[in-house]
Amino acid sequence: MSSSRTSNFQWSELVPEQSCATYGDAAYELIENLYPLCRSITGEGVRKTLDIISSEIELEITHIPTGTKVFDWTIPKEWKIRSAYIEDMSGNRLVDFKDSNLHVVSYSLPVDKVVTRDELDKHLHSIPEHPDWIPYRTSYYNETWGFCVTHKQRQLLTDNEYRVFIDSDLIEGHLTYGELYIKGKSSDEFLIFTHICHPSLCNDNLSGIAIATQLAKVLSKSDLNHSYRFVFAPATIGSVSWMSQNTQLFDNIKAGLVVAVAGDSGNLTYKLCRNDDSYTDKIVKNILATREDDYNIIEFSPYGYDERQFSSPGPNLPIGSLMRTPNGCYPEYHTSADNLNFVKPEYLADTISAYLDAINVFDNDTKFNNLEPFGEPQLGKRGLYRKTGGLQDIEKSILAKLWVLNLSDTYNSLLDISIRANMDFRLIQAAAEELYFAGLLENTT
Ligand code: ZN
Repeated sequence: MSSSRTSNFQWSELVPEQSCATYGDAAYELIENLYPLCRSITGEGVRKTLDIISSEIELEITHIPTGTKVFDWTIPKEWKIRSAYIEDMSGNRLVDFKDSNLHVVSYSLPVDKVVTRDELDKHLHSIPEHPDWIPYRTSYYNETWGFCVTHKQRQLLTDNEYRVFIDSDLIEGHLTYGELYIKGKSSDEFLIFTHICHPSLCNDNLSGIAIATQLAKVLSKSDLNHSYRFVFAPATIGSVSWMSQNTQLFDNIKAGLVVAVAGDSGNLTYKLCRNDDSYTDKIVKNILATREDDYNIIEFSPYGYDERQFSSPGPNLPIGSLMRTPNGCYPEYHTSADNLNFVKPEYLADTISAYLDAINVFDNDTKFNNLEPFGEPQLGKRGLYRKTGGLQDIEKSILAKLWVLNLSDTYNSLLDISIRANMDFRLIQAAAEELYFAGLLENTT
């Protein structure tokens, strides 16, 4: 083994300039700014959202015209919504889009007519179990119109006739997504995807947008071993569109996560990748096991967010999802109760710190060869057998060094060692760093 390699490895500094709590606060502030916008899979709301994110990180924006084929899908017309309401025949407004952009079914066709109560009822959505909440409904690929109302509002609609008005257009336009590529020393990359198509809903998925933005800010300022790509796109059609434009990148993507539903009070939940042996699973299982709080691991299923698009047999990318309470598993999901009170800065901060743990592993996981492999090298004469500090810490740090020396046989990476030793990756990393600078290890990756 050539010793000229020994000077090559550099650990990346991924400790954020500010604490994760500060990033949690910044994420929450971004959520507050984005909350009022009416987003859908296309249109002004998506573009304004990307503009606001662009004020924090340097996004490259892609516009794909209506009618473009993206694999088996076609970019739909762009939806524009200006106003909408339901009035009684005396002109009293009973439901108004101005009060909540959830009131109109996304992609509703324009309508301006008097309807009977029975006909109106066929176009209404409400939640009887939660009579004060407005549901969120879409109809992207099925041409119709509709209103989402509280169940209390619905129960008050007892007249025979109502006027319904939706001032919307479906026009030739674009599907828009934003992307940030942060280049590291190697082209191996970690993909972070988040969907940007939901209107005023905080956990699903302003939390994902805000967390991805904060992570991108941290990584943009770091000197990195590997590369990172952040994609902000509408769900399903957005990830399919991005893949259709970027098939040449698939081989570079070694790990990745879809970030969504990540700001609520639930425990962290990791949804496994499609393939059992994925590097992403290995990383995330490791970091979750060494964090203090409880967590859940759930199986892959071809339902959920965009991990299912990335995991389809064509791309077959190793992309899991690190979230808090999964989609559909909390009552507020896809309702007006998924609001600014439902997500909290401290939970956003906790998710951000878990992502930074995972990224730190990805960026610093490398293989070494022990240069004194016949017995334990004498740590004391190199000042590596420290006797100061808390007893527990000394023991841990020495044990971590012994594990690194023992398993650095060119086959095991630092992540393998962390798993085998059942010790925090950062502790193993710190031990390897000391041994490396003491000349006891050479990098073999
Ligand atoms: Zn959703």
